Formats: sequence, C-alpha cells, structure tokens
Amino acid sequence: MDKTSSSRADGRAAHQLRPLNFELGIAPHASGSVLIATGNTRVLCGVMIEENVPRWMKEQRVSGGWLTAEYSMLPYSTLTRKPRDVSKGRLDGRSSEIQRLIGRSMRAVIDLEKLGPRTIWVDCDVLQADGGTRCAAITGASLAVTLACRRLVEEKKLAELPIKKLVAAVSVGVVDGVAVLDLNYEEDKEVSVDLNLVATEDGAFVEVQGAGEEATFTHDELLQMLSLGQKGIADLIAAQRQILAGATAPNE
Ligand code: UDP
Repeated sequence: MDKTSSSRADGRAAHQLRPLNFELGIAPHASGSVLIATGNTRVLCGVMIEENVPRWMKEQRVSGGWLTAEYSMLPYSTLTRKPRDVSKGRLDGRSSEIQRLIGRSMRAVIDLEKLGPRTIWVDCDVLQADGGTRCAAITGASLAVTLACRRLVEEKKLAELPIKKLVAAVSVGVVDGVAVLDLNYEEDKEVSVDLNLVATEDGAFVEVQGAGEEATFTHDELLQMLSLGQKGIADLIAAQRQILAGATAPNE
C-alpha cells in the first residue's frame, strides 16, 4: 500500500510529512506569532487579542468571546506575482474560503465562554507557497493562539487557558490509486483526488474537504486518505506539543 520512497519526487514515503519547522516570536508586537514551514511552504501566523467583541454579539447578547481569521498570500509568495486583494478592490474567493476554514478550525478548539468578552484575531500570511498553505496556516495558528492565550493567563486576565485541544491540518492526495500525505505543489497538480483534513489531538475531525479532480474516488480510497491524514495530524500535533513544552515565555 505504501509507495516506495523513490516514487515521490522529493524521496518521501507515502506516509511522510515534509520537513516541519516552527519559529516562534517572529512578530514581537503580536501576542503570539509563529512562522511555520512545511517543506517550501511557509506561512506567518500572528495573533492579537482585542478587549472587545463584534457588534452582532453585543446586539444579540451572546456571551463569551470570538475568534476570527484572515488569510492572504503575499504578492511574492507565488511563482508569478499575485496582486494584493486590496489593489483589486475585492477579497479573492479562495482567500475568503480559506480564512473561514481557519476561523472554524480554531473556534472548534477554543472555549469562547472561558475566553470572556474579547476577540482573538488570527492573521495568516503566506510567505512562500508550495501547496498546503491552508493546512500550514491552521497548524501554525493553533500554536500562535495557544501562545497568545498563555500570555492572557500570565497577565492574569484569565485564570486558565481557554483552549480545549490542539488542532492541525494536512493534505492527502491519491496518485495512481495510492494515498500520499502532505502534497507539495507539483504533487497537488498531479493528484486525482485532493483532501484537506483538519483534526484535533484526540483524532476528532473538524473538517474534511475532499474532491475529485477530473476523477472520482471510492469508499476505500476515502478511508485510506482519512487514516493517512489522521496519522499525519498526530505527527504534527506531537511536533506542536514539543514546541509548546520548550516555549517558556509567550513570545519566545
Ligand atoms: N497557488 C498559486 N497561486 C494562487 C493559488 C494557489 O501559486 O493564486 C499554488 C500555491 O503553491 C498553493 C497551491 O497552488 O499552495 C495549491 O493551492 P490550493 O488552492 O489547493 O491551496 P493550498 O493547497 O495552498 O491550501
């Protein structure tokens, strides 16, 4: 079932993630910031916390706090320059879809009641795009939000962390009927099925985005992709835990 390492251009086995790296504290004014690298994909994740909630929450007397996310690709993150949305006067449909996914993924693991009447802003900016930028954004945001919430606790604004679980995301694709983990852009273009999986540290799914590309997929292939993705997410969360254990100050 596993593809041999030689069958992927970068020599990875089917179940292998790209090299993963987290650099913390890259934006000192943010309450939590992480530059995540998964292979050549690099995404800046910065978190700021406002002591306020959106107007709709006040108007509808919804208690607790809120978390919202924004995603964009920096103009020089792609092979050919990608103009900023602001210069086109409208938010790109893809960016809008991705930032809503990031927001949902993070809200699934945040205890908004415990957060209190404040808003967590998660900003994800792609520095270098090589496939899987939405997944990297979610995996990086999970760490950046945790660091920002740790700071709230250290500042005694909260008694305990309002975070229920860690969350991470990974892509899985099917090439010649075989599932492969964490696709780079070259692979992303080749696959007949593309699936983005978001799941928590206990293996529970937050979102499954799967689609055939000029192709269909079978029940068995879906199951194969889900289990490969869950394994990848377990590896990502183990790496997040290791980083969090070593991060003693909020912005280190
Ligand atoms: N991409 C690009 N320009 C774009 C959109 C995508 O160069 O405007 C590339 C980029 O490498 C990205 C990949 O295509 O990572 C796959 O894009 P997709 O929309 O599937 O999102 P992602 O895999 O990044 O979450």
